[in-house]
This record gives sequence, C-alpha cells and structure tokens, in this order.
Amino acid sequence: MNAAPADQRRLLEIADADARTRQAEALRRTPPQAARVQELLAARQTQSHELALRSGALDDLRAELARVESDVRVVDARRSRDAELLRTVSNPKDAAGLEHELASLTKRKSDLEDAELALMERLEAAESAVAEQEALIAETNAEGARLSAEAKAVVAETTALLEQLARDRAAVAGSVPAALLAMYERLAARGSGAALLRARTCGGCHMVLSGTDLQAIRAIPVDEVATCPECGCILVRTEESGL
Ligand SMILES: [Zn+2]
Repeated sequence: MNAAPADQRRLLEIADADARTRQAEALRRTPPQAARVQELLAARQTQSHELALRSGALDDLRAELARVESDVRVVDARRSRDAELLRTVSNPKDAAGLEHELASLTKRKSDLEDAELALMERLEAAESAVAEQEALIAETNAEGARLSAEAKAVVAETTALLEQLARDRAAVAGSVPAALLAMYERLAARGSGAALLRARTCGGCHMVLSGTDLQAIRAIPVDEVATCPECGCILVRTEESGL
C-alpha cells in the first residue's frame, strides 16, 4: 500500500494513544486501591462477626449481673422482714428459727456479693474487649473510606484522560488516509498495528530483524508501507531505523 512517510509516522501517534488508552482502561477497571479495599471488606466481615460474639458475651454478663443484683434485693428484703419479726416474736422456738434463717441469709448475701464482684470484673474485661473490637472496625472503616475515595479519584482522573486520549486520537486519525487507517485498525485488532523500526528492532514485537529481512525492507520505497516479517505490524521507518 502506498502511504506518505508523514502519514505512516502519524500511525505511531495513534498506536501510542491506543496503548495509553488500554492502560487507562485497565487502571479504571482496577484502580491500585481495589485489591486492598476487597481485603478490608472481607476483614470487616470477620471483625463484625467477632464484635457480635463479644457483644453477646457482654450482654450475657450484664443479664447475669442483673439477676444477682435482684437476688441481693430479695435477700435484703427477707432479712429486713426477719429482723422486724424477731423484734416482735415471743416464742423462743420461733425466735431461734428466725435467727437461723437470718444467719443463712447473711451467708447467702455474702456469697451473692462475691459473685457480684467476680461478675463485675468479667464485665469490665468484656467491655474492654468490645471497645477494642469497635476501635479495630473503626480503623478498618477509616482505611476503607480513604482508599475508596482515592480509587474514585483515580477513576475520575482516568475517565478524563480517556476522553482526552479519544479526542487526540480522533484528531490524528482524521488526518490519516482512510485505507492506511483501515490497515492499521485491522492489524491493531490482533497486536501492534504500527511500530517504529529502531536500530533494526521492531517496536511491535521487539525482534531484531535479520540481514535478509532488512535487505527486503530497504528495497521497499519510503512511500510504501512495510510490515514486520515477525509480527506483521506496519513498520514505520525513520532515520533511527538503522537501514
Ligand atoms: Zn514485529
């Protein structure tokens, strides 16, 4: 195919825009923060599950403490009642019975108070465990929010870049003859559409061309399209080509 050297060189700009577009599309699909955001989402699920367990344990302890406190109130009421009765009772047998009950209520109250203290200690530990887990989740959320915002910014920047690249490419493509552009598009669909031949090396496949291949390329007039014998892309020849 015939093509002016200047038009062939424009294909390099188009190929460059296409390569940058592919990179930008990949970046927009998967911003660098995406993997860590996924990790954080999974971590938060595990952390929330652990928080639910710790909160459940804390609730159980609170319920247990409430039961013990209620038992203490029952014992206190009973003790007041017995003490009141003891003041009025005249039968020694009844008095002995009440005294015996009062003694056992005192023992019961002391046991309940011991249990209460032990529970309060466990409650304090459980509250710390919950607070610790909440802090961990807050940290995870904060990192996730920061990275999501960063990823959004990357997507926005990349979207703007893609629009710019599309405009630039269209401007260059508009000045390239349709047949040459069509040839480029056809080749670009399966690899490098066009590449610079630099120092005897194809910029598309990075192969150093053999002497025979270079001989054949030298024989092709500059206003005719040459292709790489290795990868088939349009080889754009310049003074850097080493021909
Ligand atoms: Zn090649």
